[in-house]
Formats: sequence, structure tokens, C-alpha cells
Amino acid sequence: LTDRIAGEGASAWDIHVRALKRRAAGEDITVLSVGDPDFTTPASIINAAKTSLDHGATHYADVQGKHALREAIADRYRTAGITVAPQQLIVMAGAQCGLYAVAQCLLEPGDEVIVPEPCYVTYEAVIQAPGAVIKRVPLRGDDNFRLDVSDIAAAITPRTRAILLNSPHNPTGTLIEAQQWNAIADLCRQHDLWLISDEVYAELIFDGQHICAAALPDMAERSVVISSLSKSHAMTGWRVGWVLGPEALIEHLTNLALCMLYGCPDFIQDAAIAALSQERDADIRLMREAYRERRDAVCRALEDCSAVSVITPQAGMFVMVDIRATGLSSQQFADRLLDEHAVSVLSGEAFGPSGAGFVRLSLTVSPLILSEACQRLATLAEQVRPASSSVSDGSA
Ligand code: PMP
Ligand code: GLN
Repeated sequence: LTDRIAGEGASAWDIHVRALKRRAAGEDITVLSVGDPDFTTPASIINAAKTSLDHGATHYADVQGKHALREAIADRYRTAGITVAPQQLIVMAGAQCGLYAVAQCLLEPGDEVIVPEPCYVTYEAVIQAPGAVIKRVPLRGDDNFRLDVSDIAAAITPRTRAILLNSPHNPTGTLIEAQQWNAIADLCRQHDLWLISDEVYAELIFDGQHICAAALPDMAERSVVISSLSKSHAMTGWRVGWVLGPEALIEHLTNLALCMLYGCPDFIQDAAIAALSQERDADIRLMREAYRERRDAVCRALEDCSAVSVITPQAGMFVMVDIRATGLSSQQFADRLLDEHAVSVLSGEAFGPSGAGFVRLSLTVSPLILSEACQRLATLAEQVRPASSSVSDGSA
């Protein structure tokens, strides 16, 4: 057996699995440890899948993705002012599959991929699978996890092959801004690097604007965008997403899909076409507003707790809570929150060393339940905070 896939990320979900087991055993656990929308997939999308099955869509589908779906995806980018042809797209079984496939097609053993960290838990394994190496560039909690492009520049070596970015960002909820994108694009051109952009949270923006990597000038031959319907349409279980990139890369990905995936199921592709119709935009808006309300509920619930502080996310479905004043490690805090207060969150360290001192909450329950969970989090934080730190900041 090889340990290439056994990155740190493999154990990130342990606490989540524990929480689910306890809930299955009848305990009242508030599960905030996974980014799986609590909304049901909109009915019209479900109906499109049913109709498609009724019409016999039970066979192999086009391995690259049905033309009509690739047209529908391309249309979405065109609406955002980005020219995309269907041959620049391949449909994948979710963004995760897209990330893995792109890594297989772009990376050689020994290549380095620069990744701002904390980062999504699977990135390390995805990069290691083809024998490449993850080069982490820290995002600092003390600076709201802002990306400093000069840190990326400093991490480039002759072995660097790609920069992998995620905006909106999991777990910090930050957005990469125009100036940063332009500086990163300059680096890519200067050092002949690929820009791999994971944009699965693009539709969940509260403050600010999403910039798609495919919109960057003079980057068409070196940028790859990966996205999916998982979060935007509450479709995590459908496993449908895509990769947008230069035609030559898409051809490689199609060859990989031939020997790996053999196409995303036909009826799911039909549901995806329905999801991408403009009529569904209202559903997306409603869900986005619900996440915004939840984010605000978390910020409000924790604003009076001096033992923690919240980094208000601009986007996405997670909130990072700074628990450094408690003196516990993120993992200790998450373990005690589950064991003593029946709330599961993920340790920030699951996302990399720069997540230390933070825990990640998912905005996947109602504002009321979130507020209640935050009260419990605050209670634990106040309870464990060393006495000296309560005195020094003036609170009793
Ligand atoms: N990238 C990031 C940053 C994620 O948070 C996730 C999890 N939703 C994925 C990729 C994988 O998404 P999908 O469900 O489309 O495979
Ligand atoms: N992306 C989601 C998260 O960060 C979950 C996906 C998964 O369970 N693998 O929580």
C-alpha cells in the first residue's frame, strides 16, 4: 500500500463521524462539522431527474458531458461576461472529482503546487496522488486570513508547477480581490505556472464580488476553473460539477474520464441542465439569503463573548471562530464542545497549521439553532479561559 493518499485530511472528519454516530444513537447533537446544505434540492430539479429516468436515461452518457449541459454551463459563464465554448468543459462527478482529475493530468512526480493554508482538507491528498508536493503558504488569522501575494511569490521555486486557489474560501470565507488576482496572474505568466481555481462557493457571496479565474486577461492557456452544483443548488449528493480549461487539457481529462469515470449519469446531467436554467436563480438567492442570515446570527450570538472572536466571512457556508484566548488547542476545544455541550465543529488545524487556535462552524442549521449552539460554545470558552486572561481584558 502507498501512503500518498493518506494526507492529514483523511482524519479531519473523525469528529464529524463521532457526532453522527452519537446522533444516530439518539443523542441530541447539533452537527456543525460539515458543509452539507440542510436544504432539499429544489423540486423542479428532482422532477427533471425523474422525467429523464422515465424517458429511459439509464445508459452510458457522453463521457465529456452531454452537449446540452456543457452549453448550459458555458451560458452561465457567458452571462458573467466570460466567453466559454462547450469544448472547454468537461462534466465531472462533483468538484472533488474534478480536482483529482486535474491533478492527475497536470502534475508530475516532484512538481510543487502552492496552496494558501488553511485550505480544504482534500487538497494535500489530491496533490500527492500523482506524486507532487503541496507547498503551503500561510494565511494569518491575525490578518483576517488575508492572502498576501508576496508570500506566494516567495514560495515559487523551479519545481513549482501550479498555484491552487479557492475563492470564496473554505474554511475562512474570504474572497480574493481583483488586485490580488492580477498579481497572481502576473506570477503565473512570469513563471509559466498553471492557475487552478476551485470556485465551488461562487454563488454564496454576502459581501463583495466573485472574480472567476477564467475572466483574467491572457490566462486562457494556463487557468483551470473547477466548480459544481453541490453548494449553490443543495446538490451535494448528486455528484455533479465541471472543469473549465484550455481544450487540450479538457481532451486529457476526457481520456482520464474514459478510464476512470466513464461519464456522469445521464439523468443527473439532465437534472443539472434544469438546475442551471435561469428559473432556478430565485432558489439560489433564497438559499444565499438564508446563509447570510445564519452568518449574522453567529456573529450576533458571539459578539458579547470576550473569550472568542469571529472572523466575519464574506462568503461561503462556514465561520471561523478564534478560540486562542481559551488556552485550549482547536482539537481540544472541538472535543470538549462535542463531549460536554453536544455541538460538533471542526478543528481549524484540520485545514492546516495556520488554522490552529480556530474552530470552523458550518452554517447548515437554522439561525435559532445556530444561536443556541453559539451560546454553548461561548459558555465553554468562558469556562475554560484562564483566570488571568479574564482579568487582563477587564471582563469578570
Ligand atoms: N472544494 C471545496 C473548497 C469544498 O469545500 C468542497 C466540498 N464541498 C469541494 C471542493 C468538493 O465539492 P463537491 O461536492 O462538488 O465535490
Ligand atoms: N466540503 C464540505 C466541508 O468542508 C464537506 C465535504 C465532505 O464531507 N467531504 O465540510
